[in-house]
Amino acid sequence: MIKYPMVDLVGQYKKIRPEVDAAITEVLNSAAFINGPAVKSFQKNLENYLNVKHVIPCGNGTDALQVALMALGLQPGDEVITTSFTFIATAEVIALLKLTPVLVDVDPDTFNIDPAAIERAITPKTKAIIPVHLFGQCADMHAIKEIAEKHNLFVVEDTAQAIGAEYSCYNSGNVKKAGTLGDIGCTSFFPSKNLGCYGDGGAIFTNNDELAEQMRAIVNHGMKVRYYHDYIGVNSRLDTIQAAVLDIKLKHLDEYNKARFQAAEYYNRAFAGNPKIKTPVTASFTNHVFHQYTLVLKDVDREGLMKHLTEKGIASAVYYPVPLHMQKAYIDPRYTEGDFPVTEELSRTVMSLPIHTELTEEIQKEITEAVLEFVG
Ligand SMILES: *Cc1c(COP(=O)(O)O)cnc(C)c1O
Repeated sequence: MIKYPMVDLVGQYKKIRPEVDAAITEVLNSAAFINGPAVKSFQKNLENYLNVKHVIPCGNGTDALQVALMALGLQPGDEVITTSFTFIATAEVIALLKLTPVLVDVDPDTFNIDPAAIERAITPKTKAIIPVHLFGQCADMHAIKEIAEKHNLFVVEDTAQAIGAEYSCYNSGNVKKAGTLGDIGCTSFFPSKNLGCYGDGGAIFTNNDELAEQMRAIVNHGMKVRYYHDYIGVNSRLDTIQAAVLDIKLKHLDEYNKARFQAAEYYNRAFAGNPKIKTPVTASFTNHVFHQYTLVLKDVDREGLMKHLTEKGIASAVYYPVPLHMQKAYIDPRYTEGDFPVTEELSRTVMSLPIHTELTEEIQKEITEAVLEFVG
């Protein structure tokens, strides 16, 4: 039996239960299930929190990415560069829209897309870059934006794993929130994300008025005026119940991210100096909100370690065991095994430990002792 799961959503809920239950009951009593007042309220509060002009709530993070790409006016065959080490949704939407995903390798320390590799992958067909702020820290947005400006490309940030993370912009002393640095930012409120609701949810961010107007229409069947369809759209709205939950949880987001950071610090201390365990490395230009706490194992039998942890009731997981270019549905003659050596090596050697807002030092002590007992 797993005593210590990857996340503890029940424990977190118990601490905010009266407020959440009241908010959900209010929606039930009003029956304003679609686009009710809580959706607008959450939108405004998230705009303030992120310091971004427009938040467009939508059905989930995958839709957020799809709608962002739909709004950019790309044509079939246009190339979109993204990382080979991410959750499938990032590449899925590119493929669904008949655009061509162009994969590039990642930085071995941060696991984020490597700007030098982006530069090498650019062709006359390249139209956009989708950096993913993987596991909770920002990709190198300064370098990425420089490349984008030079080649006239859109930047769509996938910030599903890094909401609340902060990026310090070089030369300006300016700090901006992840998802507000590119042309469009996309996030997910999947329950286990740092800001999660109690079902599916997502949002799109932009400072561009035109893109915002268009994306707000696209998520609602391409309508600006009811039953007048200016664009081909989708049906992707954030439920009022989910927005009501998110409006409450948003107030706790900084505290939740801090708890994750502190849990990561505990793990870092416990594993410090162990030559077989590489703890997470945070780049200088970003903070880390630890959506995942991911170790790189050196000369450790990963399956054996995970089995050892399971026997002790401790969850662990591999994000991600198969790089995108080796996924069955995405097999492509352009790529073969060996093309993305960093990603491939990471997929063989990474392992994530439980990280969430409800960890205690006692739990973490048990977890780290169990890991060290096996690793030596
Ligand atoms: C979770 C996630 C998504 C998709 O979000 P959903 O809400 O599950 O559709 C996209 N990209 C990344 C990196 C994710 O982690």
